[in-house]
Amino acid sequence: MSSVVYREVHIKSALNAVKGMPFDWSLNPWSGCAHKCVYCFARAYHARYREKNVGTDFDSNVEVRVNIADVLRKELRRHREGSLAIGTATDPYQPIEGKYRLTRRCLEALVDHPMPTGIVTKGPLVVRDIDVLKRLDEKTDLTVYFSVPCVDEEIVRKTDPGTAPPRQRLRALRMLRDAGLDAAVLCMPVLPGISDGEESLDAAARAASEAGATAFRHRPLKIDTEIQQYYTDFLAAEFPVLVPRYAALYGGGAHPRKDYERQLEERVRRVRARYEFRERAPRAPRMRESETVQLQLAM
Ligand code: SF4
Repeated sequence: MSSVVYREVHIKSALNAVKGMPFDWSLNPWSGCAHKCVYCFARAYHARYREKNVGTDFDSNVEVRVNIADVLRKELRRHREGSLAIGTATDPYQPIEGKYRLTRRCLEALVDHPMPTGIVTKGPLVVRDIDVLKRLDEKTDLTVYFSVPCVDEEIVRKTDPGTAPPRQRLRALRMLRDAGLDAAVLCMPVLPGISDGEESLDAAARAASEAGATAFRHRPLKIDTEIQQYYTDFLAAEFPVLVPRYAALYGGGAHPRKDYERQLEERVRRVRARYEFRERAPRAPRMRESETVQLQLAM
């Protein structure tokens, strides 16, 4: 596997406004991702908006946004409405976070200026930040989503070559749950012919449930135009018999046929019903800061 080059950059803005998603803002401490997942949709964005290639420009040349936490802190003083997703186009806990601690410093800024936050990661390093996650969780809604599309390690070595094995991700999830945090599994993307069988989905759901995940959600693979050739090359190298099947299923588009999506939905519904995913109990409504101050003044 090629080594990764890291380049420090200074950014002018940290929060990106998002439309049409269940969150209002996104935050990505890095550009590019050393986890190198072959199906990563962020590869396509990298090509579309940054005119980079979808291969090594994305997964072997990572930009380190060294001033992101300071910029975020300034922005949070102005933008406090809406919810935030961390890690929509990169993994906030890829290994280099161990050195730079950018994600941790962003979380510390959020503790001081809280907004409802979701974090998406495949990085067990997230357990390092349980202390700051707990402080944030005391102030706002926080969920850590572990991306675990498949638990078969042989497949994962091919599809997610730079990531920690799924069992390590789930061990991290267990540690977060033991700390009282909300942590769920995203079984995404489900790869047709590779990880979409009932057995594969069942193994992922069972492992997620045993780790204490509060939810198990799935989504089939989307193949944006920019990554079609890249993904097809991967299939041709690792799963050549699937190349014609994908051609029939996607027909050159980004989404699989609707009947496939319905069948997958049904399969996941059956699997999910076999295991327990207990949503965390709603907590007592938190007092607004102004109410807390008034209460303190009254005492
Ligand atoms: S961890 Fe996430 S952002 Fe990183 S390559 Fe994999 S899918 Fe893309």
